[in-house]
Amino acid sequence: MTGTAHVPASGNTVSRAAHARLRLAAWWEANARDLPWRFGRATPWGVLVSEVMSQQTQMSRVVPYWTAWMDRWPDAAALAAAPKSDVITMWGRLGYPRRALRLQECARVVATECGDELPRTYDALIALPGVGDYTASAVMSFAYGERIAVVDTNIRRVLSRVFLGEESRGGAANAAERALADEVLPADASRSVVWNQSVMELGALVCTAKNPLCAHCPVAGDCMFLAAGRPGLGERRTRPRQRFQGTDRQVRGIVLDALRKAPGVSGEGASVLERATVESLWKDRDQLDRCVASLDEDGLIEIAPDGSLRLPQ
Ligand code: SF4
Repeated sequence: MTGTAHVPASGNTVSRAAHARLRLAAWWEANARDLPWRFGRATPWGVLVSEVMSQQTQMSRVVPYWTAWMDRWPDAAALAAAPKSDVITMWGRLGYPRRALRLQECARVVATECGDELPRTYDALIALPGVGDYTASAVMSFAYGERIAVVDTNIRRVLSRVFLGEESRGGAANAAERALADEVLPADASRSVVWNQSVMELGALVCTAKNPLCAHCPVAGDCMFLAAGRPGLGERRTRPRQRFQGTDRQVRGIVLDALRKAPGVSGEGASVLERATVESLWKDRDQLDRCVASLDEDGLIEIAPDGSLRLPQ
């Protein structure tokens, strides 16, 4: 418990933001997770890799993958030159493996068109393959220390609760949410970086979607949502929990996992799954074939004329 009094939120948004900033900065100082890409220890490219990996995967799960990845491919040029099969294999169980190929496309552009230096402007970053508003903003803030509002699911949820007293809506961030993020962003660049990081961290560790730990929250005294009795807690979660068992996503994962573990063909180094082995992976043949076809369409596997599969080179 932080000792924060649970008084009803009051005052205008900017003054409450200034109060919350002080408390959050102190909380961040004491509670920030020591992730290897934080605190200036990673290159801008390393920060971008961490953001791409964390988009649909918890940061704590990302750490071993990021560490092995950066050891093997420390910069964009190294990743650009890697065989696709290695890139897909190293992505492991991070999920949504198309992200791995998009990251390699991004690396190729950075290596060949940007002199192996990640661009330093938002406009140039967002023009890269696979880089959207969130990733470009996060790199500008976390890698380059620029003043820019970062808007992700966690930040939207925290800002909406603290300053509007309600749950954030699903779907993409709307103009009002962006305006709020801009309004409460500290004017000073270095403070804005800590603000972005600490609000995001609070959303990951304390102000979670289903079970916010308000009794342990450093901004409880500034929070309109708490003051209002947490109306509709969790009702408008940004993304409903998805069933995984039996989905095409699961089947695609099983096929890719089997390919990663398959023995290589001598002289080629490519892992191959014979058709009979593929058919043994999943009972529902229609679903299996659909998933194999979609992996092929996504460029994640290659199908030989005899029906065997391998990772692309
Ligand atoms: S944890 Fe509770 S008090 Fe803190 S910001 Fe979230 S809803 Fe408000």
